[in-house]
Amino acid sequence: MAPSPRAGKPLIVAVVGSGPSGFYAASSLLEQTAVPVRVDMFERLATPWGLVRSGVAPDHPKIKTVSGVYEQIAAHANFRFFGNVHIGRDITREELTARYDAVLYAVGTQTDRRLGIPGEDLPGSVSAVDFVGWYNGHPEYADFSFDLSGERAVVIGAGNVALDVARLLCSPAQRLGRTDIADHALTALRDSSITEVMVVGRRGAAQAAFTTPELRELPEFTESGVDVDPAEVGPQPGEEALSRAAKRNLAVLRGYADTPAAPGRRRVALRFQRTPLEIRGDGRVEEVVFARNALTVGEDGWVGAVDTGERETVPANLVLRAVGYRGVAFGGLPFDERRGVIANERGRVTGAEREYVAGWIKRGPTGIIGTNRKCAAETVARLFADLAEGSLRRHDRGVAFDHDVEIVSWLLERQPHLVTEEGWQLIDAAERAAGAASGRPRVKLVLTDELLDIALERQSVTPR
Ligand SMILES: Cc1cc2nc3c(=O)[nH]c(=O)nc-3n(C[C@H](O)[C@H](O)[C@H](O)COP(=O)(O)OP(=O)(O)OC[C@H]3O[C@@H](n4cnc5c(N)ncnc54)[C@H](O)[C@@H]3O)c2cc1C
Repeated sequence: MAPSPRAGKPLIVAVVGSGPSGFYAASSLLEQTAVPVRVDMFERLATPWGLVRSGVAPDHPKIKTVSGVYEQIAAHANFRFFGNVHIGRDITREELTARYDAVLYAVGTQTDRRLGIPGEDLPGSVSAVDFVGWYNGHPEYADFSFDLSGERAVVIGAGNVALDVARLLCSPAQRLGRTDIADHALTALRDSSITEVMVVGRRGAAQAAFTTPELRELPEFTESGVDVDPAEVGPQPGEEALSRAAKRNLAVLRGYADTPAAPGRRRVALRFQRTPLEIRGDGRVEEVVFARNALTVGEDGWVGAVDTGERETVPANLVLRAVGYRGVAFGGLPFDERRGVIANERGRVTGAEREYVAGWIKRGPTGIIGTNRKCAAETVARLFADLAEGSLRRHDRGVAFDHDVEIVSWLLERQPHLVTEEGWQLIDAAERAAGAASGRPRVKLVLTDELLDIALERQSVTPR
């Protein structure tokens, strides 16, 4: 017979990953009242918030204020944060499932999609994942360096990450200096010689995945404006049937095409209907060869791009590919190679007994931060449905088992440099204090050792 969800000790859940989907999952788990729940959140970095800290652009501080919501969730009496614990390295998946009634992976997408063209691995051809991690002070990208000594950078991709990267490359250093950008990136961007960032999309202007506010704010953030070729934003195939968002984007792009970029030092050039065919150079990137595309409309209204045979060669010293993040297989869980996600049915890992997924690793790298709330809620609903049906069974722990104590001592054996919520609060306070002294929201500590020094010196690692 299925156990009653209300019976017995609390349901003990491990959430792996402390980005938006991890926190929204924790919130959904803790806010329902039918079953008492305890949540332990594991994060491989010493700091929480996932891409809110290491993805969202530093010049978008308002978006980062969502972290206040995560701090409220973290303050819940039945929540614990364990940072600097890499699941799959410090602890195995099997060890987690042996100790927790359910394990929910919210590990995000750790890599990017490749272009698959010759020259992609030449020095100077880099992934936006690396560049974004670097300017946002992600410890694993702290040692990266990017050659910003050329005049032109090409960004392949027509989504918001491409716009973030282009904006950061074109922002006046004075403006960036008021943000929480990593200090090493601020210095490098201040000294950058880049005067043009060309953002290139494969299909037409109306098919770009930019969101309108991000597109509209570009001139405000750059020194000399945005360059759009009027020929590329004229009447579009299937224009009548375009979504409202696409029509809004098109209107903004046409405005740019009508306004010649003011003379200045740096500009963003938005170009469409081009597919990169090859990145060339003698030992490093020197130029990109593009196919020029024509647009076709299918019977279903889908607008596609076909190669016209025309070629265009664009000199550039830096090529950034921003064609999408991608999940990586995790701990032997079934992986959908095509979509780059852990195979799942509405959040329950396919074929697994007590394992669940939420966020980008569940549905792929799409949507805004808020999309992860609904996504995580769906997974948690699935989990409770499984509990009610009896397909999710709690561990039989016996009365002598004290989860609070056992888990902490076990973790300390595995990772003596464990960062608790208290340790993170110490890091947060130190970063904010350094920021307040220089008129910035925070000055990020970038090296793991620096972060651990602050957390471990004063935090007390004790059971709840
Ligand atoms: C460059 C960029 C800019 C963006 N800007 C915006 C924006 O302005 N506005 C907006 O609404 N959305 C933005 N987004 C989208 C938003 O960041 C995502 O929707 C969201 O972060 C996805 O949440 P997640 O929790 O699934 O993954 P993530 O945020 O990636 O969190 C995953 C977490 O899991 C941890 N982790 C991974 N593997 C392990 C492991 N093995 N053990 C322990 N921990 C692990 C990671 O360190 C990370 O902290 C942006 C995304 C990117 C890439």
